[in-house]
Amino acid sequence: MDYIKKVKMIASRINHIKEQIPDNVTLIAVSKTKPNELILEGISSGHLDFGENKVQELVSKHENLPKNIRWHMIGHLQRNKVKYIAPFVHMIHGVDSAKLLKEIDKQGQKNNRKINCLLQFHIASENTKFGFSLNEVESLQKEEFFNPLKHINICGVMGMATFTDDNEMIRKEFNNLKSYFEKLKAHFNPNDFKIISMGMSGDYPIAIECGSNMIRVGSAIFGERK
Ligand SMILES: *Cc1c(COP(=O)(O)O)cnc(C)c1O
Repeated sequence: MDYIKKVKMIASRINHIKEQIPDNVTLIAVSKTKPNELILEGISSGHLDFGENKVQELVSKHENLPKNIRWHMIGHLQRNKVKYIAPFVHMIHGVDSAKLLKEIDKQGQKNNRKINCLLQFHIASENTKFGFSLNEVESLQKEEFFNPLKHINICGVMGMATFTDDNEMIRKEFNNLKSYFEKLKAHFNPNDFKIISMGMSGDYPIAIECGSNMIRVGSAIFGERK
């Protein structure tokens, strides 16, 4: 397929997915490794939520693309790199430690803003995936860890299911994340704590059935990554 045709397909794929999903579900178009031209084509359909998983790439795309894009940091975030994205990032999905929360709060204060965060949970059977356990977050709640963090909005939870063809296994993991959300929500500000970010190209229909209201879709929009 020639490049122009490929670019034109981005907007129609985004629109197609949006037509399929319920109105309360936000689509994040995951543009990691993809060039700015393809992101611009996505914007031409009116879409503004994009996800990246590397700080350097995210910063470069933010600098070179329209400033009204809402950038979602969906990858693992190292503490020493928070400062680069703190001025502009719309939401950080992969928050997986107390130390990282403290650093994001500190950088939020420096930038005089509140940074939207999702608590990432380890729900997959693979032990390579990052994230809190339910126990860890419940302990943090008990010790009132979150109260002094005035430059963070805890907006909900995020997780990734096991990479498998076993749909029942995926469903179980997504149901777990949804149950964590329900268990934790009484402690957080209900005006912020609303998001369940789960579901990717291969499993977002299951995720939505399990209660997801934010899906992160890359290859089904932009094509396979190398
Ligand atoms: C890459 C990535 C996605 C998108 O994956 P696809 O399978 O291409 O849709 C979603 N979430 C995270 C955290 C990712 O790193």
